[in-house]
Amino acid sequence: MSFDFLQDKDRIFTNLYGFQSPELKAAQARGDWDKTKALIQEGPDWVIEQVKASGLRGRGGAGFPTGVKWGFMPKQPNPERPSYLVINADESEPGSCKDREILRHDPHKLLEGALIAGFAMRARAAYIYIRGEYIREAQALQRAIDEAYDKKLLGKNAAKTGYDFDVYMHRGAGAYICGEETAMLESLEGKKGQPRLKPPFPAGAGLYGHPTTVNNVESIAVVPTILRRGAEWFSSFGRENNHGTKLFQISGHVERPCVVEEAMSIPFRDLIEKHCGGITGGWDNLLAVIPGGSSVPLVPASEIMDAPMDFDGLRDLKSGLGTAAVIVMDKSTDIVRAISRISYFYKHESCGQCTPCREGTGWMWRVMERLVTGQAEISEIDTLHDVTKEVEGHTICALGDAAAWPIQGLIRHFRPELERRIEERKSAMKVAAE
Ligand code: SF4
Repeated sequence: MSFDFLQDKDRIFTNLYGFQSPELKAAQARGDWDKTKALIQEGPDWVIEQVKASGLRGRGGAGFPTGVKWGFMPKQPNPERPSYLVINADESEPGSCKDREILRHDPHKLLEGALIAGFAMRARAAYIYIRGEYIREAQALQRAIDEAYDKKLLGKNAAKTGYDFDVYMHRGAGAYICGEETAMLESLEGKKGQPRLKPPFPAGAGLYGHPTTVNNVESIAVVPTILRRGAEWFSSFGRENNHGTKLFQISGHVERPCVVEEAMSIPFRDLIEKHCGGITGGWDNLLAVIPGGSSVPLVPASEIMDAPMDFDGLRDLKSGLGTAAVIVMDKSTDIVRAISRISYFYKHESCGQCTPCREGTGWMWRVMERLVTGQAEISEIDTLHDVTKEVEGHTICALGDAAAWPIQGLIRHFRPELERRIEERKSAMKVAAE
């Protein structure tokens, strides 16, 4: 069955590549800030219901239903305990590069979305936490915020709705862990960015101890278009439980790496053929794919070819859609070294609060380094796997899982390659000794 590719008329991000200006006037010509007041006048419950009906699931990796998450926030505003929206623009997951395109080319989509989402959650303000390295993106975003204040789309009586709503941009300092929602709140409060134990969840006690929802940039930026075009329109894309359009970021061994908006559930092969010009050296040269950013397990070529690129399809392959950062590796890749490099990244980014992560990430990386050269015993592969299982699910935040999963994927699919290196090294050592 052939796949219905997303048509231009159905694209939400119409300035993804920056061919037009990101400024307010051009954004309005593209349809942003159109009848915002009318949408808000429908009321907060209507907005939440529409977002629920659209089937939008969080675009930051976890895939939790966005409307349901908003529903956890208090219904009655309390001036003593104002609610906040925090927008996660940290985008530190290796392979991910979609939010930066929104921030620098389509920032008004995000700001209008922030106003509407904030209103739906009865929030007083939104804080956009942007990755420190995104210097140009931060400039573009701040310019857009200033323009919106200038035209009274934000601030007191925002967009003439009678609702007061402020938006602040906050620049991070380059720690991966600040992309974790509670570490982000700590960092916003001026503390060291270390994840908090949950519960309490942010909707109960978040920023400054007040009710808070943390959402990804893409999740917020799609909301105005969903409300204008209708929940049914958005949910017409993708398979059951995996609806909408999605920004895919394809890097690695493809002819043309790119960021592209496509319908959810697009088969992997179609995504790569249509938008990336195929795999370097042809499809027979494909080795494996990390489909959702560096923290999800790899999927070997034979399994990913016809897989639907969505939350459930990739979960069925024991991997995940994550941020839809698709890292393609052809047969020129040293797959053991690639995963070892990822292990080093998570070791480096561990905040050190909990023992399984602080000690386990370094231990796993050191074993991985030996496996690269085959300097290990075959039995150590099982020991390594056991340790990943001890780290997974036993830490304060998901960084422990993120460090364990890539190694589990490697052992699951490339165990013969690990064994081959060990055997070969043993034989070479024996010959040398003789
Ligand atoms: Fe810190 Fe790692 Fe524990 Fe997360 S899992 S809180 S990064 S030590």
